[in-house]
Amino acid sequence: MNGPRRTSRDIRSESRLDVLHAVLSAGETTRNELVHTTGLSAATVATVVAELTASGIVAETRLTANRVGRPTATLVMNADRGRVVGIDVAETYVRAVIFDAALNQLASVEEQRDEHVTDPNSIVEGIGGVLDRVLAETGVEREAVLGVGVALPGLVQGPSGVSVVVPHWAWHKVELDHLRERVGLPLVIDNPLKVMATAELWLGSGRFASSMATVNLGTGVGAGIVLEGRILRGATNSAGEWGHSLLVLDGRECRCGRRGCVEAYIGAPGIQQTLREIHPSHPLADLTLQRDFIAAMAEAMTGPDPDPAVSATIDRTAYYLGSALADLVAIVNPELVTLTGWTTWALGDWLLPATREHIRTQAPGNSSLDLQVEVSTVRGNSVATGVATIALERFLADVGLLTSHAPIAL
Ligand SMILES: [Zn+2]
Repeated sequence: MNGPRRTSRDIRSESRLDVLHAVLSAGETTRNELVHTTGLSAATVATVVAELTASGIVAETRLTANRVGRPTATLVMNADRGRVVGIDVAETYVRAVIFDAALNQLASVEEQRDEHVTDPNSIVEGIGGVLDRVLAETGVEREAVLGVGVALPGLVQGPSGVSVVVPHWAWHKVELDHLRERVGLPLVIDNPLKVMATAELWLGSGRFASSMATVNLGTGVGAGIVLEGRILRGATNSAGEWGHSLLVLDGRECRCGRRGCVEAYIGAPGIQQTLREIHPSHPLADLTLQRDFIAAMAEAMTGPDPDPAVSATIDRTAYYLGSALADLVAIVNPELVTLTGWTTWALGDWLLPATREHIRTQAPGNSSLDLQVEVSTVRGNSVATGVATIALERFLADVGLLTSHAPIAL
């Protein structure tokens, strides 16, 4: 066991995080409102606000005149404290998004990737390229960047044995050193599942739930799990690989090498396989790029006469998704499940009602009684947003404001 006990330093750190989340979600607030929204004492709020304003993270803006007593200063995140960049490296694209220090998105650039090219050098160059472009396009000097976060698909392990294991992608310390050199700025790396849960916790409905799961639907699938306000990482940062839990014994081959994984049914290639099984000669069954396929599915569902084979594929996918989520709900018992990822943005409206129903009928006992299942409200690219948030957390840790629980600081 190497888990640290909670120290008074952790508790102060948590109070600062609570206040930061409250300022961020309110947009503009006051010390009195913070006492109500965080449940912290007035004295603690006053101390924390003094620390956050002294470090330039939070700014005092205008004075609001009260009817009685002294005018009250309002508090906002100090957007001009610096910039953070989040980079989402997916099988089919790499995207860099630049944010101000209040996590407002300023600009983004994306490059399509050939999903069959997986050598680390080309991926490192892809990451460096979109970073350079997004800084150039926004005219941001490198000195103004507080941190860069990179989300790499697959497994990211802790600092002791840094390695990134991705189906088809195998990264070792040498490639990660190469990435650090290429980026040349304070860098954090995390797994997309933890990153999406962080985005949900800071900016989405997760702010109001103490236990939740954020489920990503894309090429791969997985779940970022928050238990009692904390992101569940596990012993080797591998928690949440729900996409590689078993849905069908001896079922379809999964790219991880096992058979019958959830991902083999509801990952984008799995959905295409379902369409092939329903209608082998369907024109969409032969599309070679996953994003084209999912976009074409959405198009075939739009309008008064949805394509019957596509509609049947959606029903079947909701059945798989709802069944697999019923297991997750049985184990975690969350208040909230949010769906995110590019398959969700394209097909979520059609998948959601049947998925909810399958969870409700299959989850055991009371586990889904008060469960909310929604499309995530974190707009845009939640992976880039989440990993930029972790980069900001890392900066706050470096200046001594937070105790960092992020595992990877290179
Ligand atoms: Zn698998």
